Amino acid sequence: MTIEQNLNKVNQLLQDAIEEANRTVNSVTLLAVSKAQKINNIGEAYAAGQKAFGESYVQEAVDKIQALREYDIEWHFIGPIQSNKTRDIAQHFDWVQSVDRLKIARRLNEQRPEELAPLNICVQVDLFAESSKQGATTEELKSLLDYVCDAPRLNLKGIMAIPPKQQDTAQQLKQFEQISQLFLDYQHQYPSLTTLSMGMSQDMTAAIAAGSTMVRVGTGIFGPRPANWKQQI
Ligand SMILES: *Cc1c(COP(=O)(O)O)cnc(C)c1O
Repeated sequence: MTIEQNLNKVNQLLQDAIEEANRTVNSVTLLAVSKAQKINNIGEAYAAGQKAFGESYVQEAVDKIQALREYDIEWHFIGPIQSNKTRDIAQHFDWVQSVDRLKIARRLNEQRPEELAPLNICVQVDLFAESSKQGATTEELKSLLDYVCDAPRLNLKGIMAIPPKQQDTAQQLKQFEQISQLFLDYQHQYPSLTTLSMGMSQDMTAAIAAGSTMVRVGTGIFGPRPANWKQQI
């Protein structure tokens, strides 16, 4: 299958999930996760109509963003953030979905260039307190949301989560519903929270049933990532 065919299939799955959940048409956007993918593959997805792309590794991403600067692409950073990488992220991305601590939020606010629009931010939450995962705990979340909400160079947009992998759809749904409830609770306090980023290739249907507004799909669009790709960067 070509990337265009895969993309059409994922968009169809997305529409079916929206319909099944009785949600509004276009209430869920698709982020194409292009980490480990060649620039040509991004170009192919773009030609097929995809405009938002997600990357997880700063150097790899900056090279691609520069090579594709003539394209009208919205770039999302979705990977773990080291503090020495915040300047590159603040200079090159439109969105950052993986802000999980105050130090990172402060640096992005300070380093976002004046000539660019404020940086769109999703705070990443780890509701299930997996020590191996990135994400603010529920205790840390409030102060992080407060900071991002008030920071002049940041634009609070949403919450992102990567719950533990589950094979069972009922288990997936249960986790996504807990995240969704937390999102709805905070929405009263922070009305700018409109994006709930959750769901990937394997669990996007359950995520949409639970209220996701953005699914992040890599392999479903581009096929498997090269086995050795982490060593290449
Ligand atoms: C890689 C990645 C994805 C996409 O995963 P696939 O299984 O390829 O769909 C989504 N979100 C994040 C944060 C990722 O790092």
